[in-house]
Amino acid sequence: MMEKLSSTESTHQRFIEAANRKKILAHKCVKCGHMMLETVLFCEKCSGSKFKHVELEGAGTVVTYTIQAVAPEGFEDAGSYAWVVFKVDNSQLRASGFLPGIKVPADLPIGTKVRVAGFDSKHGLMLQK
Ligand SMILES: [Zn+2]
Repeated sequence: MMEKLSSTESTHQRFIEAANRKKILAHKCVKCGHMMLETVLFCEKCSGSKFKHVELEGAGTVVTYTIQAVAPEGFEDAGSYAWVVFKVDNSQLRASGFLPGIKVPADLPIGTKVRVAGFDSKHGLMLQK
C-alpha cells in the first residue's frame, strides 16, 4: 500500500532511509550532547527535547541477543533468527535488530561484529555478520 508521507512522519522515514544506506540515524541532544535512537522524545540525561540528527556508521558489536527458534512472521522460510542488541561503533548507543541464520549461541559469540543490512517494515533493522 502506498501512502503519502507527511513531514511529521519524516523522522521515522529518515531512519529507514538511513538504514537502507547501512547507516543509523541517531538523535544528539543539543543541550548535553547525549546520543539516542531517533525514537525518543526527551533526552534520557537532561530531559531536553531539542535534538539534531546524526548519522552513524551502521556497524557495531553484539552485546546480547535472543535466538528466535520460531522464525518471526514474514521470515518463516529463512530459518532461525537472533534478536540482537548491539553497541554502535564510536558511540555509546545501543540498537537492536534481526540477524538471520543464527541457530545456536556458538553462531554468535558476544562481541561479534554486525552491520546494518537494511530495514524491514515489520521487524525493524536487519543485520548481517
Ligand atoms: Zn540532554
